[in-house]
Amino acid sequence: MSQTIAFIGLGNMGGGMAANLLKNGFAVRAFDLSDDALAKAEQAGAVRCASAAEAVSGADAVVTMLPAGKHVESVYTGDVFGAARAGALFLDCSTIDVATARRVEDAATARGFEMVDAPVSGGIAAANGGTLTFMVGGSEQAFGRARPILSAMGKAVIHAGGAGNGQAAKICNNMLLGATMVATCETFAMAGKLGLDPQTFYDISSVSSGQSWSMTSYCPVPGVGPQSPSDNGYQGGFAVGLMLKDLKLAVEAAASVGASVPMGNVAESLYQLLANRGEAGRDFSLMIEMLEGK
Ligand code: NAD
Repeated sequence: MSQTIAFIGLGNMGGGMAANLLKNGFAVRAFDLSDDALAKAEQAGAVRCASAAEAVSGADAVVTMLPAGKHVESVYTGDVFGAARAGALFLDCSTIDVATARRVEDAATARGFEMVDAPVSGGIAAANGGTLTFMVGGSEQAFGRARPILSAMGKAVIHAGGAGNGQAAKICNNMLLGATMVATCETFAMAGKLGLDPQTFYDISSVSSGQSWSMTSYCPVPGVGPQSPSDNGYQGGFAVGLMLKDLKLAVEAAASVGASVPMGNVAESLYQLLANRGEAGRDFSLMIEMLEGK
């Protein structure tokens, strides 16, 4: 018999993820504070619920895709724990701070539930296309139960270790991405001032030791490298505001364990400056324009 999933948080990411669960034969009970989000979920075939508790009651598993740690903590402690049936599995796919993820998972365990943190790599297109990568923190047993549910929404599901380790992997990866994007942008800006044609510099560096994903999969220079948001006026892609959110989570986590992250700190400051220029909604490779002095 197919499993019933309560899905809470059907925004830009959660809407597509819930639709993929439905396509893969799961039943979905949906709840969101937004009527629009709920109407879209209903159109995709989900059962519309009037509250998180109503969605959760009778579900075999609960998936949450919410903005931040405070929303995740209040939804689980306020609604999910009290309404879930014994043995229900909890999967939080939001990007949140490691400390909150561990606190909520500890609270779930204390109530006899299994839970994983399973943040994603990939944006709205990957959520719609079912090609997300999930980084999962939790026990072996919880991971084994979560895997078939996550596989219905993504192309890769990787166990990162115990509770909170999915979030740790996510923010470490995105801190590295933020730092390499800044470095790639400042380098193209400098190369241009030194008289190098950007395509020529790409042809050289993309097969040399300066190569990175930020250069060869997501080049910030329009018209250079494969198609990316820079070719589309820096629309779509991964928003400056979301990169800034992840960098803030990263430097906060670094401080909590005494890790030195000078590159992460610089990337956070630069993305804050870009957001302050009113660019929080455009793609994060827009950093190149600021570093070119535009
Ligand atoms: P979003 O704002 O589009 O969606 C969040 C949804 O949660 C909204 O529909 C909102 O109404 C709902 N919500 C908020 N509080 C709620 C509550 N108490 N009960 C029920 N619903 C509630 O955000 P998104 O872009 O879908 O991102 C969701 C998560 O995924 C975030 O943690 C984000 O950092 C992460 N993420 C986003 C992207 C991306 O490209 N958008 C990529 C990777 C990870």
